[in-house]
Amino acid sequence: MKVIDGKALAASLRAEIAKGVEELKTAKSVTPGLAVILVGDNPASVSYVTAKEKACREAGMASREVRLPADTPEADLLALVRELNADPAVHGILVQLPLPKHIGEKNVIDAIAPEKDVDGFTPVNVGRMMIGEECFLPCTPHGIVKLIEFSGMDIAGKHAVVIGRSNIVGKPVAALLSRKETNATVTLCHTGTRDLAHFTRQADIVVVAAGRAGTLTGDMLKPGATVIDVGVNRIEDPSRPRGYRLVGDADFDSCAAVAGAITPVPGGVGPMTITMLLWNTLEAARRSAR
Ligand code: NAP
Repeated sequence: MKVIDGKALAASLRAEIAKGVEELKTAKSVTPGLAVILVGDNPASVSYVTAKEKACREAGMASREVRLPADTPEADLLALVRELNADPAVHGILVQLPLPKHIGEKNVIDAIAPEKDVDGFTPVNVGRMMIGEECFLPCTPHGIVKLIEFSGMDIAGKHAVVIGRSNIVGKPVAALLSRKETNATVTLCHTGTRDLAHFTRQADIVVVAAGRAGTLTGDMLKPGATVIDVGVNRIEDPSRPRGYRLVGDADFDSCAAVAGAITPVPGGVGPMTITMLLWNTLEAARRSAR
């Protein structure tokens, strides 16, 4: 059984990205710039944003952080997004989700210029991905495909079962895995699926993105299957200094006993999400310099 090391793959891709950043600076005098907007002080969002900014700087990019109070009116946030859309030093715009309840997430995402939508969340980018046009692929799903390839598996012809149908993970993962380039046969499962294990036991690849610890257990797997665990769940653990630990959606020990390969949590999908954000930001800067 192989543990798929997301940190190692992320490190090698980030080194490649940093090289690309240097080349762009030298050849075109363009420094890729990412603007990261955080509204409020949700602790998980603060730590995600901090990690994204750090990764950005380490890759040699310019990171502009905009932290706004939780009661920021939607109109002010929309005005900021439009200002960043027009700023030539900003190649990528990321609005950290979730936003406070009084702000319409859809309105804000729709306001981001598609050529700066490095999260790949705008309807224009999602549509382009579905019809195979040039676009920014959403970061977590793109990272998942890279991880499966990195594990050594040839995805073509395999049966992939995706658990979860969110717009940011499940649906785009299913779309990417079923593209002609990857060529998997995909089954998309959700809470309306009757007998989830019936499907997962037929899968060569299981991507679990349900947001619930213990959704996938070893008895639900075909021997040798590859498991990509997207979930991030806090479990109380008084033995840890913070009082909790992070676990995925797969029960690691029972799944590892049956699987051929599995991603750990943390250290699997998480580092790849930020890496693919850097990838898209570099690509956005390259396109602007064409
Ligand atoms: P989400 O919007 O809550 O969607 C969860 C999906 O899973 C829903 O479609 C839901 O079905 C389905 N589901 C839940 N329980 C299920 C079950 N027992 N059986 C079958 N389907 C089930 O969550 P998300 O945004 O996709 O995120 C999923 C997890 O990934 C979360 O833990 C999140 O923190 C994590 N995540 C990690 C990263 C990373 O970079 N590591 C990035 C994004 C998300 P219904 O549609 O029927 O409700």
